[in-house]
Amino acid sequence: MPGMNHPRAWYALRRTLPPWRFDENLAELVRVLPRYRVDEVIVKVDVEEFSHGQPPIELVQGYQNSLFRVKEAMDRLGIVYSINPWITHGHGDRGRDSRSTIPGAQMVVGHDGTRAKSCACSLSKPWRQHIAATWRLYAETGPRVIWVEDDIRTFNHAPVRFGCFCPQHLRRFSQHVGRRVSRTDLVAAILKPGKPHPWRTAWLDMLGEIMIDVARFLARTVHEVDPEISLGLMSSGYHHHCVEGRRWRPFAEALADGRPLYSRAPLGNYSEGSLRGLQYSHASIKGTRHVMPPDTIEQSEVENFTFGPWSNSATFTFLKMAVSFAYGSHGVTMNLFEHSGVPMEAEPQFGRMLADRKPFLEALAAVCQQPGRYRGVRLLHHERAAHVMRLQKGDDYDRLAPDHGPHVEALEALGIPTTCDDESVVSLCGQTVAAMSDDEIRSVLRHGVLIDAVSAGILVERGFGRDTGIRSIASPRPIYDLGPLGAEAFEHEEFGGAPNTYLTTTIGGGAEPRVSAIEPVRSARVISWFVDPDRKRHLPCMFAYENRHRGRVVVQAYDVGSISAQPYCRPLRVRQMQHAMQWLAGNDLPLVVHGDGAWPLAFRKDCDRHIVLGMFNLSLDDWGEVTFDLDGRASRGVDRIHVLDPHGRWRANAGLSTHRSRGRWLVRCDRAVSHQLPLVVLVRRKDA
Ligand SMILES: [Zn+2]
Repeated sequence: MPGMNHPRAWYALRRTLPPWRFDENLAELVRVLPRYRVDEVIVKVDVEEFSHGQPPIELVQGYQNSLFRVKEAMDRLGIVYSINPWITHGHGDRGRDSRSTIPGAQMVVGHDGTRAKSCACSLSKPWRQHIAATWRLYAETGPRVIWVEDDIRTFNHAPVRFGCFCPQHLRRFSQHVGRRVSRTDLVAAILKPGKPHPWRTAWLDMLGEIMIDVARFLARTVHEVDPEISLGLMSSGYHHHCVEGRRWRPFAEALADGRPLYSRAPLGNYSEGSLRGLQYSHASIKGTRHVMPPDTIEQSEVENFTFGPWSNSATFTFLKMAVSFAYGSHGVTMNLFEHSGVPMEAEPQFGRMLADRKPFLEALAAVCQQPGRYRGVRLLHHERAAHVMRLQKGDDYDRLAPDHGPHVEALEALGIPTTCDDESVVSLCGQTVAAMSDDEIRSVLRHGVLIDAVSAGILVERGFGRDTGIRSIASPRPIYDLGPLGAEAFEHEEFGGAPNTYLTTTIGGGAEPRVSAIEPVRSARVISWFVDPDRKRHLPCMFAYENRHRGRVVVQAYDVGSISAQPYCRPLRVRQMQHAMQWLAGNDLPLVVHGDGAWPLAFRKDCDRHIVLGMFNLSLDDWGEVTFDLDGRASRGVDRIHVLDPHGRWRANAGLSTHRSRGRWLVRCDRAVSHQLPLVVLVRRKDA
């Protein structure tokens, strides 16, 4: 797919052609796809409202001839043909009962004893036989890719939330631990508050192994028919898969089975809410890429659900596509139209947008798909985060998943881009640090690290108090348990503060934020204090410390998981956090953005011959000007600087200027940036 002769902004349309309107829908595809500039059609089979649960073999046999016809028609147009069977295990029952479709199949059983009727257990032999039979039929039609839906997982098989605790799974686990274990005993062990019970690790490891085997089974089924077909994997958000012990690399390798592997990262925002939802989209692309093998071909998921312009505007749909290409995806899969056979031209704004925006996306993709790395503050994810997660009494199963959402969102919204690539400044929040080895932690503490209250507590417990500047730390509690601490006094001038400067502590987004009482060592510098209504200082809110290894640490007393980015972010906070992060980096942060607007989503990608800078404006107000503030080295060997225009042409722009200041290189754009189109700047280097 991505290659010299192919479009770089690869459009793959996921389309359902239901049997009762097949001819009409196929004729429309043939007519409009060239006009929409679509490169690939991924045919969805037995979908959503008209899904039969586990589709009967006769149904797939009956439909196979239609698939051959799509393939033939697309071949004639030079459009690639792929398939997306709508289920493997099943997304949810939705009133279906597939127990008579697959006699003897074991269906998924939930942690609370709930039983599915149409979602099958991964250990069930009759289910595997049924899948093998149907998937052979799909493979015979010669698709480039067969996409595996994200229902290849052990959770979210409504009505089951977390599985599978069926007799077969329990038997296997019992054999593993050498004693008979009931569902209730096992679930109690998995959810035991405090230090994790060893059964949790054993259980997650077992689930992980079983799912690798399922992936291998699917790939081999397909490859027995046609070894040239690639498998594609949709996933559910990389952090969620921690709750089923997914081991990404062996899982992906099993599914690839020696062929190129495709990955569909979810972008969320199925229904348009706020532009800020694009923060999740970009984080999902970065995080999913990080866990998948490096040579994976990415086609992100641009989905409009429940379809039509009332659900997603064409503008918002375009922005999801632009985010995908800006963050380096090879293509987009587009699930834009409903599955009942309504013509696509009933909603013509989408097809028009696809055609109109292709040149812009092509130019964006061409520079962002080059090998290189995204720069920013490094985020840490660990696939064993659920293994080490400490639960509180009464916590539900879903608390096993780490959630970096508020953390990433807050940094990005303050104009501090984040990355999963290697960087010297790291941001730690929540319990994920517990999955890291002592050596990994030591290495992080030798550079620059931002630490929240939860991570700080774990580091102290692990014996790293001395290197974090913490003398003592209490567990996080709701802030008003500690007194009437309504404000944060931000007066340290070296970090951007000033006398009588205050930030609100009402930043929990409806709940109280959680805070740890921390006593720093004497040599730590307190950047801000929690104060009472008389402005009296009570507890440090943020402090900076340089340790014996010359590593720099900034500790926040907030449990970042308890804050909400919207009330957290304000102009003072931008100053505070940009100063703090810059101090951590020794004034060498790869990028911060300044300007006169809110909710930036900015990026920098360094490639061999160029740097791409970009900013999406996730607010409805225009930014009047934007400054990309880069480390001084970025200015070396610069030849030309161009801005991408709406038609996909790189333009020298009168509004563009650069200058140096205090060891930094500033690239300033004096032009309005609206939410409708990202600002993209290309810094080309001179030929070596
Ligand atoms: Zn089971």
